[in-house]
Formats: sequence, C-alpha cells, structure tokens
Amino acid sequence: MNPALVFGALLLGAAGLRLLLGVQRGGARRGLPARHDSALSACLAPAIERRLGGYRQRIDHQNALAPRKLDVPRSVLVVGAGIAGMSAATTLAERGFEVTLRDKNPYLGGKLGAWTERQESGEELEVEHGFHAFFRHYYNLDGLLKKIGVRKNFAAIDDYLIVTHSHERLSFDDRVRTPLLNLLDLQRKGLFRLGEILFTRARDEMGVFLEYHPEKTFELYDDVPFGAFAEEAQLPPKLQIVFNTFARAFFSEHDRISLAELVKSFHFYYLSNDSGLLYDYPVEHHETAILGPWRAHMQGLGVHVELDRGVNAIAPLRTGFEVDGTRFDALVLAADVSGVRRVIESSPLLAQKHPSLSQALAAVKSSQRYSVWRLWLDRPVRDDVPVFVNTERYRLLDSVSMYHRITPQARAWAARHHGSVVELHSYAVPDELADESAVKAAFRAELERYFPELSGATMVHEAFQLKDDFTAFHCGLYARRPGTVTEADGLVLAGDWVKLPCPAMLMEAAATSGLLAANALLAREGLQEEPVYTVPTKGLMPSRVRPRPTEDRGASSAPSLAKPG
Ligand SMILES: Cc1cc2nc3c(=O)[nH]c(=O)nc-3n(C[C@H](O)[C@H](O)[C@H](O)COP(=O)(O)OP(=O)(O)OC[C@H]3O[C@@H](n4cnc5c(N)ncnc54)[C@H](O)[C@@H]3O)c2cc1C
Repeated sequence: MNPALVFGALLLGAAGLRLLLGVQRGGARRGLPARHDSALSACLAPAIERRLGGYRQRIDHQNALAPRKLDVPRSVLVVGAGIAGMSAATTLAERGFEVTLRDKNPYLGGKLGAWTERQESGEELEVEHGFHAFFRHYYNLDGLLKKIGVRKNFAAIDDYLIVTHSHERLSFDDRVRTPLLNLLDLQRKGLFRLGEILFTRARDEMGVFLEYHPEKTFELYDDVPFGAFAEEAQLPPKLQIVFNTFARAFFSEHDRISLAELVKSFHFYYLSNDSGLLYDYPVEHHETAILGPWRAHMQGLGVHVELDRGVNAIAPLRTGFEVDGTRFDALVLAADVSGVRRVIESSPLLAQKHPSLSQALAAVKSSQRYSVWRLWLDRPVRDDVPVFVNTERYRLLDSVSMYHRITPQARAWAARHHGSVVELHSYAVPDELADESAVKAAFRAELERYFPELSGATMVHEAFQLKDDFTAFHCGLYARRPGTVTEADGLVLAGDWVKLPCPAMLMEAAATSGLLAANALLAREGLQEEPVYTVPTKGLMPSRVRPRPTEDRGASSAPSLAKPG
C-alpha cells in the first residue's frame, strides 16, 4: 500500500468520523468528550500495536542459563559519570565487577548534573545543568530510576506547549496516544487543515515519517537536511514550527539536522509508543531527586566514585588497559563527544594499536553550541503556562522553565522576593552570536517578547552556561558513528552519541548505551545479560522505504526526495 494513500484515506476517515459523531475541532479546549478519538482508537489501536510488534520489546540476548555473577576478580574503569556511565557502572557492580567511576566534573550526572553556587550575599543557590523531560517510554532509564527508588520524586507536566511569535499556543494534549492516530489528531489540534495536506505534496512526502527503517532510512536520507525536505514537502506552516522545534530538541537547527535522524526521532517519540507526549520532571534539585540516591546506590554496590578527576590517556596493554598509571581489565568510555576527542588525542598508544578506532573516535562531531541561563528576577511571571514552555524561536530562545514552580528552594526564593526563577534554553546557538554578552542580550530580548511582564526586571542572581559538548545529528554523520562494541577487546563505548541497535534519543539513548556497554562486558565473561528494552525498531510501513527518482531541484545538491507514486 502507498503510505500517501493510506495517510490521505485515514485523514478523511478521521475527519468523517468526527463529523458523524458531531465533535468539532477545538472540542478538547472546550472540555467536550473525545468520543471520536476513543471510537477510532478502540477499532484501530490493537491492529496498530500488532503491526508494530508490541510497544515494548526486548533486545538483549536472553541467556538465562548463564551465571549472573562473576566468580573471578575483574576491574573496570568507567570514564564519565553521566547517565550512560552511571547505568554501566551500576549494572557491572551488581554483577560483581570492581568498578571505578571517574568524572572530570566535581558533580555526578553529566548533562543531568546539579550543583550549588554561593552568592555574594552568602546564599547558596541550587542550579541544574538544565531542566529535563523524562518521557514515559524511556523504558531503560525508567527501569534504573525505579531500581534506585527515585520515581516518586517526579511530577507530570500538564501540557506540552509551543508558544508562537503571535502568542498562539500550540498544545499537545494526551487524548490520542495511539501511533498514527495521534498524527491524524494533529488536525484536530489545529496544526494543519485537511486541504493543506490532501491536495499538496505534503500528503506524499509525510509518508516518510511512517517508514522508519533502521538501515534504509539512513542510507536514503542521512545526507538530506530536514530544512530542505520541509521546504520541498510544503509542510503546513504550523506543522513546520512544530518540526523545527522538535529538530532543535536534538541540538541542531532545522537546516543542519539529518532528515534520517529526525525520522528516527519522530518514530521514537511519537509513532512507536502509546505513552503520550506528556512527560514527568523531577520536583526537587536533581541532586536530591536523582543523583544523591543514585550515588548512594552505587556506593552500596561497592563502586568507587571519583569526581573532579578527569581521565587523560588510555594505553592498551597485552590484556587490559593502563589509564593514568593504573591498570584495569576493562574500560567503558562514557565521556561526551568533546571529552572523547580529548582523551583520544592524548592516547597515542591506543592510536598505534587501533588506528581505525582512534580515527573514528577523534572524528565524533559536536553540534552547535547550546546555552542555559538561569535567572533570579525581582518580578513575578504569569502562571497560566506549564512549568516548561517551548517557544518558536526568533534567534535563539527555545524554551523557558519556571523553576519557582518546580523546586522548593526556588519557590521559597521567589516568594521572599516577590519574583521568579526562570531558566532559558537555546539548544543551537546561532554562530553569529559569538560571545556570552551577545547570547545574553538576545535571550533577554526574546524572553521579554514572550513574557512582557518581565521587561525591566532586575536580575538578582544568574547562572550561565555556553557549551559545545553535545553530539551532532547533522547530515552525513551516521555511517561513521561508532557502536558500543569496539575492535579493542575490553574497551566499550557508551553515551547518547553512540550508534545503537534500536531507536532511542537523548537520556534514553544514554541509559540504553550504558546497559548495552555493560552487557558486552558481561557477555565477554560468559554472564547473563541485563534486560534491555526498546520501542518498535521499525515504523508502520518500513518496507516502503526506497529511492525516489532524481528530479531537477535547481541549485540544490541534496538528493531528491520525490518518490514514484
Ligand atoms: C540543556 C539541556 C537540556 C536537555 N533536556 C533533555 C530532556 O528534556 N530530555 C532528554 O531526554 N534529554 C535532555 N537532554 C540531553 C541529555 O541531558 C543527554 O542526552 C544525556 O544526559 C547524556 O548523557 P551521557 O551520559 O551520554 O553524557 P553526559 O551527560 O555528557 O556525560 C558525560 C560525562 O563525561 C565526563 N567526561 C568528559 N571527559 C572526561 C574525561 N576526560 N574524564 C572523565 N570524565 C569525562 C563529563 O564531565 C560528563 O559528566 C538535555 C541536555 C541539555 C544540555
């Protein structure tokens, strides 16, 4: 079946059913019951789940007869204490490895990290590396959080909202969660009109989102920038805003991110699970809510946690590795992309013995810079928005978090000062905003456009970060991305930048990669692997992915997206 026809027919079917049942667009906001959606879902949901092979699938090698625990001493160094490193360290320590977890930062958690900053007033203010959304289909991360016993420290966001330049609110309620039906439901949410899809190229081109295939999607579309696709596909304007916002969640502007990565991500977040787009977030400082308990759990398992201690160089030995003067039987390299490049540059002996591995690791690319700016302001801000709001950026502002409604300390500070504590994120800072002052000026101007009540507010405190350690999901990088297992026996890789055998992104990619890296070392010792879960590894119509004939696209050199009908 042609996905364009299926998509068109379903759109018409959904609209027809809605008319028959007398529920009109906008009904959700007026509190009308979602009868049409439940009727449609009840009919189609089981078939859609069956077609995807089930929403939660296991991908570890289930070798139940193998022993669970080591009966010989084995030392392993985990480099990097982000989610990937902590997942690997926890799993290996549970199975009897002697684990050292080392990080250059003085805090655990990497990009999920948290610390305090002492102000001139003597006040000790809590800061996070940034607000984080924990989606409910993050099966592996969720499993770890439950194991550590911290899931109770989370609350559910009440809406997933994008505010546009014209202050329109594009809201993603959770009424329709079944994959595909949720895509059709975007019409009810006002993100497109039927005519904008049915009678334009978008109808044919949007099929690409249903066709995710782990190899073919990348073979065909990794060289295509999403921006070029969106323009050619004539996506309806509001849908384009949504996709651009979505692209930036992966730290890329829409004209740099690979279409294949975006199709994979859209599959992972929207078309492969029925958990919905609403997510959970920690309601306390990350140190209290997650990292402190995780540290205690690891230490209880015997992990040596060594913070503020960066790893410089790795040297392979006949068996094992020497790292900064100490020998380890095995190594999990779970640093971020910038850290990996630095370690590889100072490891000439590794390059001598494993030149292709070293070249691949030296070439892992960082994305554009990102920035996080937390502001303690002497003015309150309106509270009719969720605690985290996405914005249609002007130049750089992508989201605003209302910390004075999230953590007890920020709440108390805001109450004392009749003010607010907000955190601004830019996931891809434009290159022309060269330094801190240019970024801050642009941030402040955009914040005030969305929240005019903050114009002229005095900044009482601030915490600013401008970094470039996030992996690039730009065009053409996928083929060279290293996987978990390397040619160097005993050296495995983990991190949200590592190529995985299943679709996962961001924190879930980090957690999954940590479990897979640990599993590789467990398998090396003949031990049972840890369960690893994934959403369906293919889209609803993966067999449809095939090259489209080239057509004249003027000056553009990107491959054509046009498909045969
Ligand atoms: C502002 C922001 C917001 C985000 N929001 C979300 C969100 O809402 N949802 C989501 O799923 N994801 C989000 N992410 C992404 C998420 O934080 C990351 O995908 C995830 O935390 C990556 O984990 P990691 O373990 O792979 O890497 P990292 O967290 O980067 O950890 C790598 C660690 O390696 C250490 N290291 C580097 N070099 C060395 C060395 N030489 N020696 C020792 N240690 C070293 C670093 O210090 C770091 O601690 C966000 C990221 C940012 C920056």
